[in-house]
Amino acid sequence: MTEKLRPPPLRDDCFALPAGVDWTPVDEALGLLRDRLGPVCAASPAPLAEALGRVLAAPVVAERANPPSPNSAVDGYGFAHASLGAPEAGTDITLPLTEGRAAAGVPFAGHVPPGQAIRVLTGAALPEGVDTVILEEDVTRGATAIAFRAGIKPGANTRRAGEDVQPGQEILAQGRVVTPADLALMASAGVSRPMLRDRLRVAVISTGDELIEPGTPAGPGQIYDANRPMLLGLLRSFGYEPVDLGRVPDDRETLRATLDRAAGQADAILTSGGASAGDEDHVSALLQEAGAMTRWRIAVKPGRPLALALWGGVPVFGLPGNPVAALVCTLIFARPALRLLAGQSWQAPQGFDLPAGFSKRKKPGRREYLRARMRDGRAEVFASEGSGRISGLSWAEGLVELPDGEIDIAPGDPVRFYPYGSFL
Ligand code: AMP
Ligand code: MG
Repeated sequence: MTEKLRPPPLRDDCFALPAGVDWTPVDEALGLLRDRLGPVCAASPAPLAEALGRVLAAPVVAERANPPSPNSAVDGYGFAHASLGAPEAGTDITLPLTEGRAAAGVPFAGHVPPGQAIRVLTGAALPEGVDTVILEEDVTRGATAIAFRAGIKPGANTRRAGEDVQPGQEILAQGRVVTPADLALMASAGVSRPMLRDRLRVAVISTGDELIEPGTPAGPGQIYDANRPMLLGLLRSFGYEPVDLGRVPDDRETLRATLDRAAGQADAILTSGGASAGDEDHVSALLQEAGAMTRWRIAVKPGRPLALALWGGVPVFGLPGNPVAALVCTLIFARPALRLLAGQSWQAPQGFDLPAGFSKRKKPGRREYLRARMRDGRAEVFASEGSGRISGLSWAEGLVELPDGEIDIAPGDPVRFYPYGSFL
């Protein structure tokens, strides 16, 4: 059994806000998360077969060179370039053939004398005495010799040892999520058991007396729980392990028991609903009671206060109940925070500027995210900004970000667009 290395626990005050702060600007809120959160998942070496989509817990260092030895890039004939002398380009050269051949995995054991050539195949280690390979299509082959036109450069059609990767070279950075190409790179560099983090497990809890399960008949005032399938799906697309803890009514004791269960089974918890300061905002009341909770009033729209807390040492992201706000808060705040908890590097989503396909006047004070998509090179926004309009989330293919300050956008003005994929 290999030992699992567990990171130290998060600090009790990791979600505290500076005293006297009222509305925290988005960048400041992100800066606080960035400074205070770190990996919570254990790390251990694991085979490549288990590495895809996992987070590297340490930099990966090449154990051997790629290629390990000089070899041929083509099927052809190898020889020592210096032994050709200095013929004028275009003159005919004839080289007698050395008996035998070099193939990938089956090297030629002998030495190729100067002035002779040997049959080599793609991937074959260059035999001693060979530094250049001529493509088979460029030669005429006789029974015991080959002929070709002068003009080939020294080293042609060969790969140098270590031209791709040198032994001891860092080939992959800590915090990276392993891709299929990374598997190829590690395999070629002789790495078979990289240090990997356990997958981040994230519990999802919906709260609200009005919520029922899709597929069941709805009574008066009841709505189907839309946030839970969305959040579970997002977590899966982030590469984490979602843990479904179902729905909880607006009842403090049930919520307490569910949070306890969540803390026992997951490394982080996402709740939705009940995060404000109202009578039925039990999530925020309960987290407050437990201490180590801060209600973050982030200057963002859509998004009511976000409740951040530790429950039994496990970070809780208390998201707003409105599905639109829940999604935006997840992408903008929970996403980068979860990355750090999972052991990934901090990464701002990569967006790009597009000409606006809409007009909009915005007051100063809050950063705003609009449901948007790109059509004909322009950013279109959803017709309604209502934060209960779930159809707009589905219509959209990303978010347009409007700056904190006042702005008056006319069609054609540049706006920043983040495709949903940039948050993955
Ligand atoms: P709350 O944050 O609990 O005050 O909820 C704000 C709004 O979001 C209310 O209209 C809720 O009914 C709605 N809401 C809360 N949770 C969900 C959910 N899981 N799915 C759909 N709507 C929800
Ligand atoms: Mg509620």
